[in-house]
Amino acid sequence: MRFARKPENSTVRWMVFASAGFSAAPLVLAAALLGGVGQGAWAAGDAAQTGKPVSLSKSAPADDYALANLPAGSSSPGVDVRERESLPAKQLFGAVETPAPLPSEPIGYYTEGCAAGNVPMPQVGEAWQMMRPRRNRYWGQPQLIAFLQEFARRAKRELGINGLLIGDLSQPRGGPMTSGHRSHQIGLDADIWFLEMPDRVLSEQERNTMSARLVTLDHRRINPRRFTEKHARLLRMAAKYPQVQRIFVHPPIKKYMCAFAERIGDEDKSWLARIRPYWGHNYHFHIRLRCPAGATNCKPQPEPNPEDGTGCGKHLAWWYSDEPWQMDRGVPSLLYREGVPVPRPRPKKPEPRREITMQDLPHACRVVLDAR
Ligand SMILES: [Zn+2]
Repeated sequence: MRFARKPENSTVRWMVFASAGFSAAPLVLAAALLGGVGQGAWAAGDAAQTGKPVSLSKSAPADDYALANLPAGSSSPGVDVRERESLPAKQLFGAVETPAPLPSEPIGYYTEGCAAGNVPMPQVGEAWQMMRPRRNRYWGQPQLIAFLQEFARRAKRELGINGLLIGDLSQPRGGPMTSGHRSHQIGLDADIWFLEMPDRVLSEQERNTMSARLVTLDHRRINPRRFTEKHARLLRMAAKYPQVQRIFVHPPIKKYMCAFAERIGDEDKSWLARIRPYWGHNYHFHIRLRCPAGATNCKPQPEPNPEDGTGCGKHLAWWYSDEPWQMDRGVPSLLYREGVPVPRPRPKKPEPRREITMQDLPHACRVVLDAR
């Protein structure tokens, strides 16, 4: 089995989709933004607008929508609009400090897109606090922000936790990030720490510097002192929300969840399919929401559909094989002998890909980048 079969966070499916005749999509997207097609998709965000919609040139026919039609000013001062086509898009989106004052809409795919009309998650709520605010990644689509607040309050109420420490959501206008994530680009992804919120308001300094805590011993074993049944109930609660598409966790956490569902005698275990093992999710879990209803420019990810209905069998077994954890090229790949991991190898992630440029993103992301 090859990595290409485990796309999850990667763009594999999107690339397949793109090569299967989606080449007309940029025009469709541009037409949608310019001509107001799909306004219904934006209605959900109207109440949470952060600014007046800019007036786009509605007279410009979509077919002619090209670089020449971009607004004169670029959101990246000093960068020529044409020149920027070849720049890594993460530099462009990473440099913009405010959301696009457009009707809210996720545009493109989780790993290749952007977000119009993102709104900020309040830094401190009665059941959550936002971590690393300095990064300015506490922005999301109104549906994500509403979900997180509801989820945090309910977790506090029903699970008896103080609240959630929430990490990165998206940049103000979504898009690729300069560090840390391949997804989180369309305002529908959120990282939540496994570390429970303390029973006090952290200072901004603390929220910027406080360390997260690993809840696993390695990629096969949970740390039972740090990952407890409370965490399992939190993950189960999240996975049962209809708007949740996937939750990424480190493999031993998935294993724990499978056993947990058995232990509590869960009759309907279908929620387990949405809890997906993935590299790197050992101090936080990652919640991904579905494309909201009517968000026609949002490219949905196929539903998780493990053969056994839960992903607790063959799919999880793959994560417990050596294959996902081989050393990088040039270094012996089998440091695991008899299951003894010494020293701990670096996980082998999917092949690094070339930088995403504006040309890889939906055309409408240029409008999002330039809106002011
Ligand atoms: Zn994440």
